[in-house]
Amino acid sequence: MKMPKKRNMYCRKCKRHTEHAVAQSKKKERSSLKRGSIQRALKRGQGRGAGNLGKWGSKPPISRWKMAGVKSSKKTDFRFKCKECGKSSVQGSSFRSKKIEFV
Ligand SMILES: [Zn+2]
Repeated sequence: MKMPKKRNMYCRKCKRHTEHAVAQSKKKERSSLKRGSIQRALKRGQGRGAGNLGKWGSKPPISRWKMAGVKSSKKTDFRFKCKECGKSSVQGSSFRSKKIEFV
């Protein structure tokens, strides 16, 4: 799908319509000790002891998650950056698309 590189939209900081630059957000590597990470949970004493470890077991999560690799499209995640004040905002509702091209 083709998307324009810039577009006019409302800026909450400027309180009027200004030109915004559109970009697809890049995936960032998650920090190893952030909330929700296995390492952090282990440090906090979860996933230890006798019996079935369940979620904390030895298998990688991808083998458990059966939907992995089924869908051929990905949801969009656009960031709009105001060209006047530099304030950026996120996309309200996303949609599925195989490929995004900025023109
Ligand atoms: Zn602005």
